Amino acid sequence: MTLDAKLEEIFRVTPRQRLALKKLGLLTVENLLEHFPYKYEDPANFKKISDLLSGERVRIAGRVTKVDFEKTWKRKINIAKATIEDGSGKLEAVWFRQPYIAKMLPEGSTAVFSGKIGIRSGKYYLANPLYEFISQGAFSDFFNTITPRSSPLYPLYSTSAGISSLWIQKHLEKILAETKVPEFLPDEIIKKYNLPERQTALRLIHFPKNLEHAEAAKKRLAFEKVFLLQLSRMKRKLELKNSSGLKIKNNDELKKEFLSLLPFKPTISQIKAMEDVERDLTSGNPMNRLLEGDVGSGKTAIAAYAAFLAAKNGAQATYMAPTEILARQHFENFFNLLGKSNIRVGLLTSSISEKFPSKINPKMPTHVSKSQLLKWAKEMEIHILIGTHSLIEKKVEFKNLALAMVDEQHRFGVNQRGRLLRKNSFIPHFLSMSATPIPRTLALSIYADLDISLISELPPGRKQIETKIVPPKERHIAYSFIRQRLNDDEQVFVICPRIQKSDKETMLKMEMKSVKEEYEKLKKSVFPEFEIGIMHGKLGPKEKEETMRSFRDGKIKILVSTSVIEVGVDVPNATVMMIEGAERFGLAQMHQFRGRVGRSEKQSYCFIFPNSYSENSRQRLKALKEAKSGFELAEYDLEFRGAGELTGKNQWGVSDIGMDALKNLKMVEAARTEAKMVVEKNLLAKFPLLQEKIQKIESSEIHFE
Ligand code: ADP
Ligand code: MG
Repeated sequence: MTLDAKLEEIFRVTPRQRLALKKLGLLTVENLLEHFPYKYEDPANFKKISDLLSGERVRIAGRVTKVDFEKTWKRKINIAKATIEDGSGKLEAVWFRQPYIAKMLPEGSTAVFSGKIGIRSGKYYLANPLYEFISQGAFSDFFNTITPRSSPLYPLYSTSAGISSLWIQKHLEKILAETKVPEFLPDEIIKKYNLPERQTALRLIHFPKNLEHAEAAKKRLAFEKVFLLQLSRMKRKLELKNSSGLKIKNNDELKKEFLSLLPFKPTISQIKAMEDVERDLTSGNPMNRLLEGDVGSGKTAIAAYAAFLAAKNGAQATYMAPTEILARQHFENFFNLLGKSNIRVGLLTSSISEKFPSKINPKMPTHVSKSQLLKWAKEMEIHILIGTHSLIEKKVEFKNLALAMVDEQHRFGVNQRGRLLRKNSFIPHFLSMSATPIPRTLALSIYADLDISLISELPPGRKQIETKIVPPKERHIAYSFIRQRLNDDEQVFVICPRIQKSDKETMLKMEMKSVKEEYEKLKKSVFPEFEIGIMHGKLGPKEKEETMRSFRDGKIKILVSTSVIEVGVDVPNATVMMIEGAERFGLAQMHQFRGRVGRSEKQSYCFIFPNSYSENSRQRLKALKEAKSGFELAEYDLEFRGAGELTGKNQWGVSDIGMDALKNLKMVEAARTEAKMVVEKNLLAKFPLLQEKIQKIESSEIHFE
């Protein structure tokens, strides 16, 4: 078998299984080999049925000898029962209201069950257990081993209906027996870090004899992921360094002019970031920079500076924001700031096209047709085009695009960024901005191709936002406190719980409903005397714009919203952020919400209202309360929830194991050292298999676009 062989061609699969494989992203032999177990069952941790105690949580391995369905006669609840035998005794598993679970469990199958032991009319039973099939062989191995410690571990995989862990194991056994897996890591690296060969590692991760084996395999496979990632990013970095970008001229006059436009004195961090940007833009090579700074640290000014320099050099800039609300905010900021310097600005979203200045009133923007706006971008009537995803469309063309910028870049995939860049025959300078702090390991790997500028301070006079977790019985106290803030003419955001649905339309509808309900509640019985506005994804762009404007102008005092205002929104007079259903949001996201307040010298507050409390969410919310900066939270999220939770690993295309590895600073640094050496000494050609692997990564990244 070759690594590229298609699973559905070499194995017999049912249509249902084909679908499941697709869903799991398992198309080729290599995909399956790289579908690693998420955990291993250690039979030593299994309980014997004869040793059970009531109330304990257990895992047992057994054979299903009987499956039954019934309805309780009083309450008409569907019940499914299965009898499990493990050689030491018999136990009944009972599923209440979940008969389908037992339907997928044929008599005679062997599985690992986990659940809680209950007691009913003097007999033990296992309540609503989860289960995973294991092979008959593994089952008898387990019971024939005298010392369970030496028995092999059972890998468990993420699965989908039709493809079980058992199916995966069986087919992997075959694949590993018949496939020669080539080694692509250079020999020196393998030796230096004492890594197992790829073939061995793949065998050990799927069929470990003990946990040490599994760990060694994992180490090697994680190393390779991080190494490949860095190698491809560093290669790109070098390629950029060797290509040319528009050489922008800067001088003291220009800089002075820009500083005179700014309504404030930049902080030291902002000045440093401006200098970084200046240096890149005037170097002649394309800039590829990430501007990182906590929410409210003032990143927009840096973007404005870069765009200003481009425009003053007779070139164009474009600035992409993740939401319409934010794009408009930037548009208004930019024309207010740069309009005085005769810079012309456009706004493009899926439904709005505007241009500044208007012919009639040179202080105001005007609506134009989309085709007119696009024509102006192409003819350079517009210097800076700001917008949403609409900017990436093919129709959008520039005459002389020198600079592409992306705000809140963690919200965009690598590919979207790439597309924005490909809008030109030469390579535009690229600047991205993120408030989501990236732990060092991630910064070293995922963004190995980027230079980073850090804005490490907030503008002067900002006070630490007071964060309070409000239990239900104290809600009224919070409300009366908030009333005082409102009476002092300050403003309030209310975020409604996130609703997760795979169908986006349904999700938006349900979120709209919950926003309306919250609005009704506040209007009727909490803050009837104040003007309240609503904001959600189903509002049209006009309504969004009007609502945001009324809120910014202080006509609306309380804005009830979904997470659409998560990023970027800047209304300095708002001092209270209320988050409902807080357990449904990630920490980084809540930190973003909190960042909507504390944008002036007034003391601001964040009230967190959880709907339910688990120990885990209590810990997380506590971390949010105590963390001083987004960086602390990012480290926390990385440690407790994995990097994927941090900002969405899918957009990075990094597997779970790679993400796990990113927690390991030492490994990341080692991989970085090696990748750097390969790139800097230009050794790639010496390792054809490695080169092939890198090309595969590059082409799959392009393929996605
Ligand atoms: P973010 O980094 O979150 O994008 P913004 O650029 O939106 O932050 O800036 C947040 C607020 O702080 C804005 O109202 C902006 O005008 C203001 N601001 C930015 N820099 C300074 C500064 N150096 N001094 C005072 N206010 C500033
Ligand atoms: Mg911003």
